[in-house]
Amino acid sequence: CGIVGVLSNHEAAPILLEALKRLEYRGYDSAGIATVNGGRLDRRRAVGKLANLSDLLVHEPLPGKAGIGHTRWATHGAATVGNAHPHKAGPVAIVHNGIIENFRELRAELTEQGIGCETETDTEVVALLARHYMDRGLDARAAAMATLDRLEGAFALCFLFDGEDDLIIAARKGSPLAVGHGEGEMFVGSDAIALAPMTDRITYLEEGDRAVVTRKGVEILDAAGRHVNRAVATITREA
Ligand code: GLU
Repeated sequence: CGIVGVLSNHEAAPILLEALKRLEYRGYDSAGIATVNGGRLDRRRAVGKLANLSDLLVHEPLPGKAGIGHTRWATHGAATVGNAHPHKAGPVAIVHNGIIENFRELRAELTEQGIGCETETDTEVVALLARHYMDRGLDARAAAMATLDRLEGAFALCFLFDGEDDLIIAARKGSPLAVGHGEGEMFVGSDAIALAPMTDRITYLEEGDRAVVTRKGVEILDAAGRHVNRAVATITREA
C-alpha cells in the first residue's frame, strides 16, 4: 500500500523504515524491505506492524545503501510473510501498490514456460517476468521496461536488481509516485510526505511515467517511451 526506494550514501534500512512509518496512515498488514549490498540483493519481511520488521532487522540486519520498501494492504493472497513484498525472483526484487489486473493470463503464460508461482499474489508475476526477460539476455533496465509493457491495472512499482547498487526503476499507472532529489542521493515514495525528512525537492511522476533513478538523478520516460521533463517542486522539509 506504500512504497519507498532509496539510493543513498548511508545505510538504506533505517531510511526505508523511517519513510515507511510515514506511510503507515494508509493502513497495512505486513511490511518488508530489500537492499543491494556489495552487489548482493537480499530482503526481510514481517507480518503485522513495522515494529515487527524493525525487530527482525535487529536480529538479521540488512546492510546496503540502495533499497526498496513496502507496506502491504493485501488484495490477492493472505497477509503472510510469503505474500509480503518485496517479491524476488533471481536477480530482481520489486515492490508494488495496487492490482495487476491481467496477472492470471501472465501466470498462465509463465506456467507454460515452466515457470511456477510460489505466492498467492497478483504481484509475483512482475518479478517472474522481469527475471524471465533477464534470462533471455535483456539488461536490468530493458527487462523492467519489457515487463512494464505487459502489465494491466492500476499500480506503482519499484524494481531493484542484484549487482546494481545505483539503479531503481519506478513506474506509475493509476497510483501516485514521487521522486525525491537529494545531494548525491535519490529517493522514491508513494507520496511526498514519506520523503519529507530526506529532501525538499520532489518530482511527481505523471500517469504512465517510468523513472530510471540513479544517484546522479532521474531520467523519465512517458507512457509512449519518450524522454520527458517533469518539474521539481519544493516542499517543506521536516526534521
Ligand atoms: N495487490 C498486491 C498484493 O496484494 C499489492 C497490495 C498493496 O497495494 O499493498 O500483494
